[in-house]
Amino acid sequence: MDFSGKRVIVTGAGKGIGRATALMLAARGAKVIALTRTASDLDSLRKEIDCVAITVDLADPVATRATALRALPADLLVNCAGTTELESFLDVSVENFDLLYAVNTRAPMIVAQEYARDMIKSGRKGAIVNVSSVAAFVGIPDHAAYCASKSGLDGLTRVMAKELAPQGIRVNGVHPTVTLTPMAIKAWSDPQKAAGMLSRIPVGRFADPDDVAQVILFLLSDEAGMVNGLSMPVDGGYMIA
Ligand code: NDP
Repeated sequence: MDFSGKRVIVTGAGKGIGRATALMLAARGAKVIALTRTASDLDSLRKEIDCVAITVDLADPVATRATALRALPADLLVNCAGTTELESFLDVSVENFDLLYAVNTRAPMIVAQEYARDMIKSGRKGAIVNVSSVAAFVGIPDHAAYCASKSGLDGLTRVMAKELAPQGIRVNGVHPTVTLTPMAIKAWSDPQKAAGMLSRIPVGRFADPDDVAQVILFLLSDEAGMVNGLSMPVDGGYMIA
């Protein structure tokens, strides 16, 4: 997969899966436009790759749209930024529900709207990957708002895939299982909870950020030219277990 000459927006490129994706894309010739919240993450990323780095709080819809416009033009888009808060269903607060929806569902929509409008206006072909989660497929205790926000993202992915593919933009989702990133430390550091999840993954391990980045790059690439509207688990077989 060669991305030479391609400009690729990657949200959440500061840490974890987004950062691994940005590094892998750059290694294959892409110019990454990295969007994330923490400036020091972008400073360290800039030391590793030649990228455009823009800080933004994706919970803020006005700032998100302005930043998406600043990031254009781009050939490809990876909506990877995401956040979580652990609360049982009975305890989910309206504030956290709104926050998770804002970052995990609304921000990908806003960034993709601006990317797609620009692509369609200029008559170019492209691809979007929305990073969802196995949590969109199953109910995970204490992840009610997270599961809802990722299921919402999947709904968007399916509509985007139908509406945008005729205009030359393929849209797919990837659904990782627990992936060893700062988010996983927050969500899965309870050994009992982690062991229960691990026991349901036939390959016997959690994912590395690179496992997910490889799949994202494939779905972005021309090699996946006939793949559209897919919800692709990257879960070592968790969904069939
Ligand atoms: P990390 O927490 O490691 O990284 C998330 C990145 O998104 C960070 O750079 C973070 O910046 C950024 N981000 C979060 N909130 C905002 C915000 N409001 N504005 C701008 N940037 C923001 O997460 P992962 O790499 O693990 O997750 C990446 C994606 O993969 C997410 O969508 C997540 O839901 C999904 N996923 C992760 C799994 C896992 O087990 N790790 C499993 C399944 C799906 P900052 O740190 O500055 O907030």
